[in-house]
Amino acid sequence: MNKKTFTLGIFGGGQLGKFLVQSAKKLNIRTFVFTDSIDSPAIYHCDDFIISNYKNKKKLDFFIKNIDLATFEFENIPFETLDYIKKKIRVSPDPSIIKILQDRLKEKTFLNSIGIKTTEFYYLKKVNKKKINNNIFPALVKTLRLGYDGKGQIFLKDKKNFLKYSFKNNEYIIEKLVNFKKEISIVITRGKNKTVSFDAFENLHKHQILKNSKIPANINKKLNDEAKKISKKIIDKLNYIGTMCVEFFITKKNKLLVNEIAPRVHNSGHLTMNAHNVSQFENHIRAICNLKLKKPKRIHKAIMHNILGQDIEKYRSKEIAKNEFFYDYGKKEIKHKRKMGHITKIF
Ligand code: AMP
Repeated sequence: MNKKTFTLGIFGGGQLGKFLVQSAKKLNIRTFVFTDSIDSPAIYHCDDFIISNYKNKKKLDFFIKNIDLATFEFENIPFETLDYIKKKIRVSPDPSIIKILQDRLKEKTFLNSIGIKTTEFYYLKKVNKKKINNNIFPALVKTLRLGYDGKGQIFLKDKKNFLKYSFKNNEYIIEKLVNFKKEISIVITRGKNKTVSFDAFENLHKHQILKNSKIPANINKKLNDEAKKISKKIIDKLNYIGTMCVEFFITKKNKLLVNEIAPRVHNSGHLTMNAHNVSQFENHIRAICNLKLKKPKRIHKAIMHNILGQDIEKYRSKEIAKNEFFYDYGKKEIKHKRKMGHITKIF
């Protein structure tokens, strides 16, 4: 291994890692991926990789010795791992931020403390269950940690339903189910001296998994600007360097509620690869490597569809139109609801 050239270490080897690696290559930056799974799309594109448990100190030490900077493609890397690395090498965004955003309670408490509205919620450990307001139902109970794409979420129709349910250690929040008009997300990148963001993506979820994202979002300029302003406030308060995504609900009364923050590049931003002058991935690499950020400009209208599970087979043999871009992540194991690829159509 030649470590004379600047090398970026990336934790996680999924599709987000793959697109980060490809963007780094475009900027002549070497990449070294650390992943815990052999079925990792990023390993076919990076310069080096390690497949190991994220807590293996020997492997982590080797990784650190051979990189100049570390980042990650998903937020559920054990905090201890990121903290261990941070003592020896720069990690961007900073692990102290991840500690807040890995935990739904800390995340919502932080947002409310800076005056940003979220759904109404309670922390089950700290509340007398019988006293929970009836108005919160129908509700969702979510694990504090490690939940994504609807994992770790339980739907509860009413209070009777809720009181019957036994929650193992009460490390959950219960939140009101929002009867929203739309969901949008803002992908924003903060560098040392500049912050840039894309206009809102309009997102549609099915069974709590993103089905498609489109631009421009069908919302007025005022809401778009307000969502960008809220996202800017969050990224500044966190002193965050890199790309992150803020997911919003738009209520029937046209109010914005933050659902959650992804401290990384995001699925809804995939269409930036084909519809903009710069992708969310490239701007992330630029921000953490202290290169000049590019201000996003939309070149096309676009829609991106996720391809889950078996559906990938259909696309592999399908004729792709001139205005479509098909991405097959090349994952070996096809599993029900697993994100296997996506297709972006530009107009
Ligand atoms: P999450 O993992 O919290 O991002 O949830 C995934 C998706 O589930 C969201 O994008 C929504 O479509 C739906 N969802 C989550 N929480 C709520 C809620 N409180 N009210 C309505 N829909 C929700």
